Amino acid sequence: MAPTLRNASQVMSTTPNVAWSLKELRAGNVRHLCGQARYSTAPPLGHNDTSDPLALVFACSDLRFAPELLFDANLLVLQNARLTLDDAVVGSIAIALSRYRMGLVVILDHRPCKVFDAGWNHGATRSSQLVPQAHAVHVAMKLRTHFAYTPNLHVAPATVDEASQRVEFL
Ligand SMILES: [Zn+2]
Repeated sequence: MAPTLRNASQVMSTTPNVAWSLKELRAGNVRHLCGQARYSTAPPLGHNDTSDPLALVFACSDLRFAPELLFDANLLVLQNARLTLDDAVVGSIAIALSRYRMGLVVILDHRPCKVFDAGWNHGATRSSQLVPQAHAVHVAMKLRTHFAYTPNLHVAPATVDEASQRVEFL
């Protein structure tokens, strides 16, 4: 059973503008692709006392690039095999939302994926056998149902092609 989300729901009433956060993530990926990144390594949490993480990124554990570098941003990152949405992940996201002022969770799938190639088929996410775009959308929709009482939370599915390192929001 996932922990209560009541605290996260309360914090969401003061979250920053999600549209701005998405714009910043897109701009950060462009900076990364153009060699204009602000960070050469993942920025540590709290590098700037005035800023909370821009978003929480939930990614596959096989992702070859740190999401902080792909988006050139201060992020909170969760990773596991093929975006398996279990109680531990939902609980971790709820705690993060109660701790930081942020209203955006990005579900980031990728290709190529060795976990996918190995036939990972965890019971919690049968959609793990889908193409990354469909899987990311499925996980995003499923996560949204866990946060039904957090109306200001935006869950954005996305994919990254590891050859180009270009992120596509879906
Ligand atoms: Zn993967």
